[in-house]
Amino acid sequence: MPVKEGKMFIRALFDYDPNEDKAIPCKEAGLAFRKGDILQIMSQDDATWWQAKHEGDANPRAGLIPSKHFQERRFALRRPEVQIQPLKNSNRKSSGFRRSFRLSRKDKKTNKSMYECKKSDQYDTADIPTYEEVAKYRRQPNDKYRLVVLVGPVGVGLNELKRKLLISDTQHYGVTVPHTTRPRRSQESDGVEYIFISKHLFETDVQNNKFIEYGEYKNNYYGTSLDSVRSVIAKNKVCLLDVQPHTVKHLRTYEFKPFVIFIKPPSLDRLRETRKNAKIISSKDDKGTAKPFTEEDFQEMIKSAHVMESQYGHLFDKVIVNDDLATAYSELKTTFDRK
Ligand code: 5GP
Repeated sequence: MPVKEGKMFIRALFDYDPNEDKAIPCKEAGLAFRKGDILQIMSQDDATWWQAKHEGDANPRAGLIPSKHFQERRFALRRPEVQIQPLKNSNRKSSGFRRSFRLSRKDKKTNKSMYECKKSDQYDTADIPTYEEVAKYRRQPNDKYRLVVLVGPVGVGLNELKRKLLISDTQHYGVTVPHTTRPRRSQESDGVEYIFISKHLFETDVQNNKFIEYGEYKNNYYGTSLDSVRSVIAKNKVCLLDVQPHTVKHLRTYEFKPFVIFIKPPSLDRLRETRKNAKIISSKDDKGTAKPFTEEDFQEMIKSAHVMESQYGHLFDKVIVNDDLATAYSELKTTFDRK
């Protein structure tokens, strides 16, 4: 059954450029997207070309994107190790969301893989990553919050606020343990400072969208997984997480029901006044040394906050201006004490 118009949201798991697509009936009608983009499905009437819009795009015109079914088959054909078997007993007419092709078993002798039709409960675990369905979630006033997401520009004081909140009640609040591929240092324990995993496993987990975010530093990967958030919540704690604003939309799900707080810098004059003796760790500095704020840091902070607010403001549940740390912290505390 086709989805109700405009009610379905999917996350793209690959980059798509209609100009490079020889199969699209009209390149101008195509919708380009990047891996990670959230798309709103406007129509699935055509089995091969769906109509979609970028999430939040005010323009009512939808563009064409390859359907899940069609794109999976194209990807599968490009994989030399994959052999596609004709489908038996499958309802080929059903919607792409209801059915998906999935790597189902390996032929031991030839080591070739075969595909068969599976029901939509396996949608998210399809081995050929094309799209996954996401729930678009808006907090309700009575929702119990289990994940607090802090967003803000570098140097705004997000880490200090997070630390203060955490030590105010370690029974109530918890933080995630990141994954890394670097070797464990002698004083470190697995699962405490980091969860230490191999590069191969990390890369597989990235492919399977298990990370909220990840990065590379000195030839090793570092990242925060969705499971690490789940494990804090499973301990009955509120998980405190700071992320780049573009990842917030991926966390806004029924499962996490996040409370998203934007920590905003005060005016330039107040920044100069209040951060006179404070230090910042530059993202450009490999060693992570703290240095006094420069005028450039202040300008960058204001600019970055402005961009964040204009692009992602609709995802924030609360904005707190960090003029003075103690006042901002008490505002943060009051926000939660009221809940
Ligand atoms: P170290 O190996 O010295 O513990 O950390 C090296 C770098 O990895 C630090 O700059 C740290 O901020 C970064 N890092 C630690 N955890 C994460 C994470 O979860 N994600 C990302 N992107 N970087 C991280």
